[in-house]
Amino acid sequence: MAKRKKARKTRKKPLDMVLGKRPRGRPGVRPSEIRGRGDHYRRLFKEIWKDVGEALLKARTEEEVSRAFDASPSYKAEFAPVASLIQKVFRGPKFPKRPEPQRNFLADSLAGRGLISPRRSRDICERERKTKVHYIIRQDYYIECTCRYKGPALYGQCPKCGTDRAYPPIPVLNREFYKTSPSKRGAT
Ligand SMILES: [Zn+2]
Repeated sequence: MAKRKKARKTRKKPLDMVLGKRPRGRPGVRPSEIRGRGDHYRRLFKEIWKDVGEALLKARTEEEVSRAFDASPSYKAEFAPVASLIQKVFRGPKFPKRPEPQRNFLADSLAGRGLISPRRSRDICERERKTKVHYIIRQDYYIECTCRYKGPALYGQCPKCGTDRAYPPIPVLNREFYKTSPSKRGAT
């Protein structure tokens, strides 16, 4: 146990540095992966539910669950291995009544592929969808100006005296670009 903890710790640091973002959770059940898979399954079920939904809901055995995907054979390999999990989700007390919530509920429940409980898989999907992703919308650089200002530039200018002239010239920087609003620059 102690050994495993240590191995995880030493591995984390370089990954942080490369990705700039700490991957949470153990490999295979990272929240972002689960959410991504949940989204993928939602789209997929939307597409195939008319073909497989009815047979899937009627299935009484794992074999029948697996056979329900005969109507969409390319996905059989993906879902036959989690047939028992699918049945477990259907039998759960919170399984919705209408088709669209049903297929989304199943998608999120299966996103953990049984490595975590369906309930936990759904919770992770929900939480990750709420997580806001942030973007750098302005980048400036450090300057030293003949007016004696030292520090970050402001939109490519010296914030103290306002000059944007550099000697020797430095590759800059479209000031108009920085002045446009972030949404117009394509950041969302
Ligand atoms: Zn200055």
